[in-house]
Amino acid sequence: MEDNLSAVLHGVDDLRLEQTPISKPGKNEVLIAINSVGICGSDVHYWKKGAIGDFIVKAPMILGHESSGTVTEVGESVKHLKAGDRVAIEPGVPCRLCDFCKTGKYNLCLDMKFCATPPYDGTLCRYYVHAADFCYKLPDHVSFEEGALLEPLSVAVHACRRAGVSNGDHVLVCGAGPIGLVNLLTAKACGASRVAITDLDENRLKMAKSLGADAVFKVDISDGKAMAEKITKEFGFADRTIECTGAEPSIHSAIYATKSGGVLVIVGMGKAEIQLPIVNALIREVDIRGIFRYANCYPTALEMISCGRVDVKPLVTHRFTLEDSLKAFEASRTAQDGAIKVVINCSKK
Ligand SMILES: [Zn+2]
Ligand SMILES: [Zn+2]
Repeated sequence: MEDNLSAVLHGVDDLRLEQTPISKPGKNEVLIAINSVGICGSDVHYWKKGAIGDFIVKAPMILGHESSGTVTEVGESVKHLKAGDRVAIEPGVPCRLCDFCKTGKYNLCLDMKFCATPPYDGTLCRYYVHAADFCYKLPDHVSFEEGALLEPLSVAVHACRRAGVSNGDHVLVCGAGPIGLVNLLTAKACGASRVAITDLDENRLKMAKSLGADAVFKVDISDGKAMAEKITKEFGFADRTIECTGAEPSIHSAIYATKSGGVLVIVGMGKAEIQLPIVNALIREVDIRGIFRYANCYPTALEMISCGRVDVKPLVTHRFTLEDSLKAFEASRTAQDGAIKVVINCSKK
């Protein structure tokens, strides 16, 4: 049997490395030898909690959804890819038939099959079968790691689109974890003239600064309104705010720090129900918008990397082999030694 070592989550705190069967690609699918998989907060959450909201891990599931690899076999109807092509994998494949799919909002499809969202297996394995049209061929100068990072970058492309970030905007990004940082990079690429970013962690703010943040704010007070005052005093009000922490005080300051008539996009998911200074938002016409993953963003994310507008390489701080997946998850969970994005290499040594 061909080696298909896989990182399989059996239950809370029970991640095992074991062999799983390799599927045959269907006529519109490709078989991919996985190269790089970034660990996401959601992977860590499933590992430690066994669920995210209504998505509950009930049967063993392979983790991982930020991935890239090399096509090794193509289904009979696949035209745009061939064996040997290096690809990035967009992890969610929708039904293609419902209203949401037909109007281009396929991220809202109720029949979405998304890697490592129960019950669907993810990509932390040697070989993975995926819909060919959700695989994007990487130019030679774009690395596998950059290909894997197209996933979080697509979240930022979607967030900046929903926020309407454009030329000359002042943008506030709350949270300087991987998602906050890709939003910083994307807002800049969209033409934002000034981007401020917040975080609890000094090290992450340092990284944000080196990636081009114009102002950084260490969140040292749990009073969101006071924090907003600190931000607006130095940075002014933001035309667009992108909240990436999901923490209640941070969402408070995000509302207070957004300019009247501006837009706040909430990316971070925290508690299911929280209190908001809603009247403040209403009387100042601050639009509050949610996002769920992304749709039609991979091609844009790839273009941004390919043309050099955005450089995600500095985000990868730690690398592990598939055999060392547990260490990789631990590094990601604890953000040890300043870990930002942890990437697992799944190719055979
Ligand atoms: Zn992710
Ligand atoms: Zn659909």
